[in-house]
Amino acid sequence: MDNPLIELERSALERIAAASNTEELEAVRVEALGRKGALTQVSKDMAKLPVEQKAAIGKLLNAVKQKLEQAIDARRSEFDAAALRSKLDAEWLDLTLPAPGTRAGSLHPVTQLQQEIEDLFHSLGFAVLDGPEVETEYNNFDALNIPPDHPARDMQDTFWVEGGYLLRTHTSAVQVRGMGRLKPPLRMIAPGRVFRNESVDASHEHTFYQLEGMMVDREVSVANLTYFMKTLLTAIFRREVTVRLRPGFFPFVEPGFELDIQCLICGGSGCPVCKQSGWVELLPCGLVNPHVLRLGGIDPTEWNGFAFGLGLTRLAMMRYGIDDIRWLQSGDLRFLNQFGGAAL
Ligand SMILES: [Zn+2]
Repeated sequence: MDNPLIELERSALERIAAASNTEELEAVRVEALGRKGALTQVSKDMAKLPVEQKAAIGKLLNAVKQKLEQAIDARRSEFDAAALRSKLDAEWLDLTLPAPGTRAGSLHPVTQLQQEIEDLFHSLGFAVLDGPEVETEYNNFDALNIPPDHPARDMQDTFWVEGGYLLRTHTSAVQVRGMGRLKPPLRMIAPGRVFRNESVDASHEHTFYQLEGMMVDREVSVANLTYFMKTLLTAIFRREVTVRLRPGFFPFVEPGFELDIQCLICGGSGCPVCKQSGWVELLPCGLVNPHVLRLGGIDPTEWNGFAFGLGLTRLAMMRYGIDDIRWLQSGDLRFLNQFGGAAL
């Protein structure tokens, strides 16, 4: 019985040394030491042996078993060490290399423009007001001289919310709140996000930005309005602009105007952007309707004022030459990174 055990030991040790990974090593272990392995078989066979031989074979069996276990453990340690080494090599980090640098974010182009305009109006004595995006029907329409049966309501496709609320369709609603809070003389602007139930295409979005402005004082005239608008547009476009007023109808102003600027692309000689007219329609404005002042708690026999609405999103598109409004809300970094660094 000696020889088979010694032979078994020799061949197992050879295979342990030859194993090239833990799986192969485990296969050798199961074959030699497992419950159905060769050594187990030998110890079962021992039962048939005469008592005097059992002790000697048993001793040898234990010695072989121990030797194989040690050899397997040693080989496994080698594999573990090699695995650790290759893992360390793969994950090795050179801490002496310079850091890749943090990439600074930047403000959205509309936000940059909004902040510029806020700074400008601040310097002209205007307060910057904020208002809720979910508004009452009264503040968004009725208080601006747009009763339920007014056609202007149909022109603004509205997202209605339960309980008589809506997503504000213009920042004019903040004017109403401002008149209720501030006493005349007052100057205020209200920039913010507004919502229309529009079908989205290259020039229409359901969500965009406006900036509403209002000045109430004694004897405010169209000349004051023209002055402020010209100052505003010269600052935005960073050059002298020529403006003109055309009559326009808006329920909350009387008289109302459309303010046009002379086309900045062609200088007034006519091009596709201005549809060959030399002028680009930019913002609605006018002297505040006395009825709107009265609804705002201001006596129109003593005070009057002007108001204007500026499409911030549209203005940003004109300033930066953006040809599709959908880029602005796309969240696409390839687009947004072009405006980095200007304002942070
Ligand atoms: Zn033009």
